[in-house]
Amino acid sequence: MIAPFRIAIGVISEGDYLFVRINTDGGVSGWGEATPTTMITGDTQTINAAAAGALAKLMLGKDPLDIEGRVTEMSQFMAFNSSVRSAFDVALYDVAARAAGLPLYAFLGGRKRSLSTDMTIGLNDPETMAKQALEFKQSGAPAIKVKLGTTADEDVQRINCIREAIGGELPLRLDANQGWDFPTAVNVLRRLESSGIEYCEQPIAHWDFDGLRRLRERVSIPIMADESVFDHHDAFKLAAGGCCDYLNIKLAKSGGIHTALKINAVAEACGARCMLGCMMETRLALTAAAHLVSARPNIRYADLDGFFPLKEDPIAGGASWEGGTITLPDGPGIGAEVDPDFLEGCAHENVT
Ligand code: MG
Repeated sequence: MIAPFRIAIGVISEGDYLFVRINTDGGVSGWGEATPTTMITGDTQTINAAAAGALAKLMLGKDPLDIEGRVTEMSQFMAFNSSVRSAFDVALYDVAARAAGLPLYAFLGGRKRSLSTDMTIGLNDPETMAKQALEFKQSGAPAIKVKLGTTADEDVQRINCIREAIGGELPLRLDANQGWDFPTAVNVLRRLESSGIEYCEQPIAHWDFDGLRRLRERVSIPIMADESVFDHHDAFKLAAGGCCDYLNIKLAKSGGIHTALKINAVAEACGARCMLGCMMETRLALTAAAHLVSARPNIRYADLDGFFPLKEDPIAGGASWEGGTITLPDGPGIGAEVDPDFLEGCAHENVT
């Protein structure tokens, strides 16, 4: 269902979605999505389906508006499994915002802001990546994110080739997805210091917080933590410890909006900005993420283009994307749901 997308730690070629709908006795329903990224979040569709059944039983008959209570119960009941917990968390927020008659950004206390996302180029040979960069530039993308993380010379060549194709104006954002060791990260980032790089995501292994801190002292390109930060505890260690300039929040890592808000608050307290990133999710999860960006200006960057490689769009309503500009819907809740026709062809389980 996905055109193969290569990053330093693997290739993503299957969507393997799982959608959650929470129905309430007040007649309001809310939607959420769990899309596994096995090499980062450790889950698969089969694992998520089993976990979703257990979480649904845990939640059955309880107050959906007590989001604090439901999210705390979920995290006490089930460690890890952040994608599937995110599906339930987002569905709870969708229920609450719909019940309040507010778009999710307003329910979160924010307003509708003008949003834009970068467009991402997967790992490939330099010429292919440069060609795609030019296409993204011509489509109006305000920034281009480039996947790197092989060898120093190859990665520098990729950026040089892209710069040659698109010129020097458009900001480039790098993501090595843990592909470099410490000396390679220093080498590449120093060589790219005058290449118009906005920041580099996760240059080295996710567990190496001290390495991130030392790297920050040696290169001028700002460092963003991604695979290193799942929750607010990680965020505190990274931001207060001076290990990064930016934090990449993803709902599939944080277990949803509740903890994402905590990560952003911790970052803000430490003077760090956030980005809202994504997995290869559908427009359902991406619309929920865009509402969160809109509600919190400390989330300065959006990297919400994960549905572009998908070969079909099973979502009705939701945000629209044009030339890197994201426009949120005005209806209550997320404002998106899974197309009923698409759902008819899917396996499903009701927990009542
Ligand atoms: Mg990343």
